[in-house]
Amino acid sequence: MTARILDGTKIRDTIMEELAEQIRDLKGAGITPGLAAVLVGENPASQIYVRSKVKTCESLGLHSEKIEWPADTSTERLLQLVRDLNSRDEIDGILVQLPLPPQVDTKAILEAVSPSKDVDGFHPVNIGNLVSGRLGLVPCTPAGIIEVLRRSGITMQGARAVVIGRSDIVGKPVAMLLLHNHATVTICHSKTRDLATVAREGDILVAAMGKAAFVTGEFIKPGATVIDVGINRLTTEEEVRRIFHDPAPPLEKLRSKGSVLVGDVQPEDVQEKAGAYTPVPGGVGPLTIAMLMANTVQAARLRRGVHRARLVDD
Ligand code: NAD
Repeated sequence: MTARILDGTKIRDTIMEELAEQIRDLKGAGITPGLAAVLVGENPASQIYVRSKVKTCESLGLHSEKIEWPADTSTERLLQLVRDLNSRDEIDGILVQLPLPPQVDTKAILEAVSPSKDVDGFHPVNIGNLVSGRLGLVPCTPAGIIEVLRRSGITMQGARAVVIGRSDIVGKPVAMLLLHNHATVTICHSKTRDLATVAREGDILVAAMGKAAFVTGEFIKPGATVIDVGINRLTTEEEVRRIFHDPAPPLEKLRSKGSVLVGDVQPEDVQEKAGAYTPVPGGVGPLTIAMLMANTVQAARLRRGVHRARLVDD
């Protein structure tokens, strides 16, 4: 059996087109949703993420502001910045790029963001909204996973869903969203006994553990839908040879590009055993920024009482 590839890039493009239309309508009504991205320090990966978020805002016609502060910024100064952004009407979404430098109290900063502008969905109020099924702002990657399933016609209602990973930003919120979509959900983690057997019960299997190719064929129920959230960069021949059954193509890539991206799922096994799966790269990854944009639009609507029930159109 060769599994169907769930193409995250295509789904992202469709969502972006829908959002562009919604933003045009909002602008017609005198509302330009605005996102402020706060970057502290010079972490190169964070710089790339923030740049690409701001660029995406621009391409959609959203108002955006990039606020870059030095690595030695204090918690107090950052709190003041967040309070200022909370009070500015043209800012609908506040994104504080993580990780923050070690001297900064990250929890205090995230809790200072007004829940109505918390486009990452990390604030305890939004976590409460999510758990109790109230309208709010949902973490981007989990929201993107649900869009992939929904738009690919994968039945969630009544399905057995197994989530591997219980982080606050992926595992727990995606489990909650699957539950709201009427799946029967099991959450696994580093202390789960007999993980492969539990995983094999999943009609839908979500791997979000951050362990390269950990989920092998024995974890996958034949025909299951496998969502691979992991992003792991392999940089040595030894790693590539350990992970791939046929290492020739990835070794070629390693030599030409210097690294090979692999998810938490063994890429050859999933092709053979799953019914459908998200590849790495090109699966879940592209959805995250699109859902950040959707959250910014949703935040603009919620603050003005012109919200819709869904993040994006059906
Ligand atoms: P995390 O490290 O915060 O959490 C990992 C979770 O996996 C933990 O709950 C842990 O209990 C579980 N786990 C670890 N080892 C395990 C094992 N051997 N068996 C069972 N469970 C185990 O990670 P995270 O932030 O949730 O991210 C997970 C992965 O998803 C990472 O690779 C990350 O890079 C990726 N990610 C991708 C996107 C995206 O946009 N595609 C967004 C966020 C995270």
